[in-house]
Amino acid sequence: MNILITGGAGFIGSNLTQYHLNLNDDIYIIDNLVTGNKKNIEELTNKKKLTFIEADITSFDFLKLPVFDVIYHLASPASPVQYKKYNIETMMTNSLGTYKMLEFFKSSGSKTFVISSTSETYGDPLVHPQTEDYWGNVNPVGVRSCYDEAKRFSEALVMSYYRRYDLNVRIARIFNTYGHNMEKNDGRVVSNFIMQSITNEPLTVYGKGDQTRSFCFVSDMIEGLYALGKTDNIKGEVINLGNPNEMTVLKLANLVKKMTDTKSEIVFKPLDEDDPKKRKPDISKAKKLLNWQPSVSIEEGMRKTIVYFKQRFL
Ligand code: NAD
Ligand code: UDP
Repeated sequence: MNILITGGAGFIGSNLTQYHLNLNDDIYIIDNLVTGNKKNIEELTNKKKLTFIEADITSFDFLKLPVFDVIYHLASPASPVQYKKYNIETMMTNSLGTYKMLEFFKSSGSKTFVISSTSETYGDPLVHPQTEDYWGNVNPVGVRSCYDEAKRFSEALVMSYYRRYDLNVRIARIFNTYGHNMEKNDGRVVSNFIMQSITNEPLTVYGKGDQTRSFCFVSDMIEGLYALGKTDNIKGEVINLGNPNEMTVLKLANLVKKMTDTKSEIVFKPLDEDDPKKRKPDISKAKKLLNWQPSVSIEEGMRKTIVYFKQRFL
């Protein structure tokens, strides 16, 4: 199969690339490396059929590309620290960038278009767990709006192309994912807690640590995205992908402390504006339509992730 992955040098994109390389597919990546890492590409194995294009999707000339069986459009900064730093780039990537991707998809005759949206489209949710039919609770002018509203626009644009042109599109609402190829300094909670633990620095819990998240190991997420790309008759569907195993941030800090056997203490820092108080995916739709559910426990996923961080960054 011919596969295009935007954002393929990033965390999820590089894992998805390796998955497709293992299937012996022909892969094109477009990535401008704004938050991605060339090392993620260099360390891929079996990459004879990989073409890496360093470019920004908002200005790339797509006419040079072939027809694809599946386009995974993942390009976008994703960690709060990064999307706040690159706020305007994040908005342009998820608006103009998604528009360019959809125009290319429509004109090229490519078969399937999968886009990575986010649980942030639910904002600070008033419905728990979050089902796909919940419209969300988003501050349109808050510090997270550059990401939340951009992703909501991106979803709306995809659905507009679907309604007008009957395109074969699918939207993944991805919940917190962790694992191999995360960056050490992208500010996400899993990377922060692991790096802090293995370098004997204090673990920084924001607020009281009673806010919740539900963490999905990356191999489960990749299988979910793959299922979204290959399943028939799900055109125009929006599907949550994540692990419903919800926990408080403080519990995660204590788990990482225990698993790394660190001497680090926990310190409490101020909570940022609009930080969602709770988050947990309802994945009934993914189970029913994709026959997918995560299988890696938090202990197993964290064990592998800690090994990765030690190998790459110590
Ligand atoms: P990441 O930052 O590691 O990867 C994103 C990649 O996109 C990077 O390699 C970056 O350089 C590239 N990129 C950004 N803007 C670009 C542009 N204009 N042109 C070309 N490339 C560009 O993030 P990730 O965690 O791998 O996230 C991938 C996707 O999944 C994103 O769309 C994100 O919104 C979504 N997502 C991720 C999570 C998570 O927990 N990791 C949760 C929800 C949604
Ligand atoms: N968080 C924390 N300490 C950190 C980094 C994050 O307590 O060093 C908290 C953050 O306030 C949020 C949760 O962990 O409540 C998840 O944060 P992350 O940045 O990983 O992603 P989010 O789910 O907020 O997009």
